[in-house]
Amino acid sequence: MANLSPKKVPMPARAPKLRSRDFLEVATGYTAEQAIEEAGRCLQCKHKPCTGGCPVQVDIPSFVAEVAKGDFAAAYEVISRTSSLPAVCGRVCPQETQCESRCVRGKNGEPVAIGRLERFVADWHNEQADVPACTIAQNGRRVAVVGSGPAGLACAGDLLRMGYDVTMFEALHLAGGVLVYGIPEFRLPKAIVQQEIRRLQKQGLHLQTNMVIGRVLSVDELMEQQGYEAVFIGTGAGLPRFMNIPGENLGGVYSANEFLTRVNLMKAYVPDSPTPIRRGGRVVVVGGGNVAMDAARCALRLGADKVTIVYRRSAEELPARAEEVEHAMEEGIVFRFLSNPVEIVADDHRRVAGIHCVEMELGEADASGRRRPVVKADSDFIIDADAVIMAIGTSPNPLIKSTTAGLETQPFGGIVTNEWGATSRPGVFAGGDAVTGAATVILAMGAGKTAAEAMDKYMRQKNQ
Ligand SMILES: Cc1cc2nc3c(=O)[nH]c(=O)nc-3n(C[C@H](O)[C@H](O)[C@H](O)COP(=O)(O)OP(=O)(O)OC[C@H]3O[C@@H](n4cnc5c(N)ncnc54)[C@H](O)[C@@H]3O)c2cc1C
Repeated sequence: MANLSPKKVPMPARAPKLRSRDFLEVATGYTAEQAIEEAGRCLQCKHKPCTGGCPVQVDIPSFVAEVAKGDFAAAYEVISRTSSLPAVCGRVCPQETQCESRCVRGKNGEPVAIGRLERFVADWHNEQADVPACTIAQNGRRVAVVGSGPAGLACAGDLLRMGYDVTMFEALHLAGGVLVYGIPEFRLPKAIVQQEIRRLQKQGLHLQTNMVIGRVLSVDELMEQQGYEAVFIGTGAGLPRFMNIPGENLGGVYSANEFLTRVNLMKAYVPDSPTPIRRGGRVVVVGGGNVAMDAARCALRLGADKVTIVYRRSAEELPARAEEVEHAMEEGIVFRFLSNPVEIVADDHRRVAGIHCVEMELGEADASGRRRPVVKADSDFIIDADAVIMAIGTSPNPLIKSTTAGLETQPFGGIVTNEWGATSRPGVFAGGDAVTGAATVILAMGAGKTAAEAMDKYMRQKNQ
């Protein structure tokens, strides 16, 4: 029988007091009974508006119908036709602005919890059996994928399925991109990402880590000397931005990127980790996106006495996922809205002592459609701090551009492509944050998949 409840089945989560001092996953996931109950809320709309809101076009009503029947294997089969990272997307996609924002149930209550159901199905599948070995016939043609984030993984997955001989080059010692070095364990356990990568390796993916393309080998060398017929660039947007205010070079100021990499990839949270990182004290994080929430919640888990997020707009404009903001608030992170730093204040040892801010008010809408924050007169204040983490955005690293002949980029550093991911250099394709600047996991995956299709077409035409 249909479930007419206007509310989602709540997601079980560990208590804020317990979880805010460790790195174990916060949300613990639906049970089979809860998943079936939530799936019963779906109205099975014929025109599938939710699918239209998914950048990789998962057939949402069909997989939800299978969950409602209790056939989780069939549900996984439906999702995996178009999504290669369902356990990841079920956890980190901003569903409230994508699939769930189009759900008809959302008009008179809460939308169907599509993300939670996707996570349930993926976790159920992953618990059932180990990854099957490759059964795909290989065509022997070599392609290279540079970068192992969601764009590179999605592109590689589709190329492997088409029979290509795929080698992935990753600059860091562990594959996964932001999924491993940026998003913390308590939101996305690393084992899930590693399982996805192992699955691709079993399908034939050659993974080379510690390979900085543009330093060890260039894209030109991959194509002209190493025999790769096409290259996909999915190198992300890992170059941190700063505000260019006085004090950003003081001891105790981090980019969120550095801070999160030390925590996530180098395990700074393990007590005897050799990675130097600030523990305890008063931490201020500047920014309002997912990166700021993650940095703030990591600082708390590393033992900070107080963590404050400083954001120049109001709560309504926070770009972070709603669930992450809610969890951060529950855990005791303090939010200073409509506040903007103008200087980081030093102590006598050139270390952070505080952050000097001004209050803001919202003026006219800017080009992004959000109201522009303007400084309120005589509104200065100082927040005492021992560490400041800047989480105000990132740009694509210029290394690939500067070492690849004929690769056009935009002024902010994004690689220029057509709608199929083809760059100005024949045989070179790109997608994800390296093209758009910092965006989302699912958009990066969508771009990787589109480029894989275009690379296949390019290589077929080349051979005619
Ligand atoms: C802290 C944080 C939290 C986030 N939270 C969310 C969220 O909740 N939901 C969401 O949808 N999105 C979130 N995002 C954004 C999302 O993670 C990114 O949009 C997405 O990972 C981009 O994927 P990508 O494959 O383009 O790049 P990345 O994931 O950045 O991967 C690029 C990879 O390329 C490698 N690389 C770079 N240069 C080279 C080179 N020269 N040679 C070889 N390898 C190279 C990098 O080491 C990296 O592994 C978050 C981002 C951050 C930083």
